[in-house]
Amino acid sequence: MELSDIKKDLKERLSKKRYEHTLGVMYTAAAMAMCFGVDVNQALLAGLLHDCAKYLTDKEKLSACKKYKLPISPMEDANKELLHAKIGAAFARHRYGVKDEEVLSAIACHTTGKPDMSPLEEILFIADYIEPNRKQLPGMEEIRYLAFHNLTDCIVQIIENTLKYLEGKKSLVDDTSQATYQFYLEKQKQERIS
Ligand code: FE
Ligand code: FE
Repeated sequence: MELSDIKKDLKERLSKKRYEHTLGVMYTAAAMAMCFGVDVNQALLAGLLHDCAKYLTDKEKLSACKKYKLPISPMEDANKELLHAKIGAAFARHRYGVKDEEVLSAIACHTTGKPDMSPLEEILFIADYIEPNRKQLPGMEEIRYLAFHNLTDCIVQIIENTLKYLEGKKSLVDDTSQATYQFYLEKQKQERIS
């Protein structure tokens, strides 16, 4: 499917707010791709589709997992919201005809990140957090600066912010987010030495 057809489809499925967020992520990811020499079309496509399963209810999320044979971790079972990322990747493949595995994997890991992401995956993870419609969370200015200067430092900052926020809410921290954080802390150390 063409980008413009996908846009039309998502405009009908997603809430107005979610659709605006989607466009924000799409253009932010494209700008970051330009900055870091990543393919701009991959960034646009990943940004546009990253939340394409976000409109599903929990019940619909479970039946989509069944349909596409997606495994559900205990963490995802406890917080079904997390599932929209992997279901989004399945929708991208089967409903929107995306064949680019790099784009699909960026969609699949956009919420929690994962250790050792590709530049495209890193960009989508960050763009989702910083796009212009996001409310001005504490530390956002610094994070937006880092998004165009150092992806590793930016990811560390984002996860630290998220952990602080979840601590405040006494919510559980996803295992994958934790693993992502450990990986990027170590990467940051390595980059600072060299
Ligand atoms: Fe999302
Ligand atoms: Fe999003």
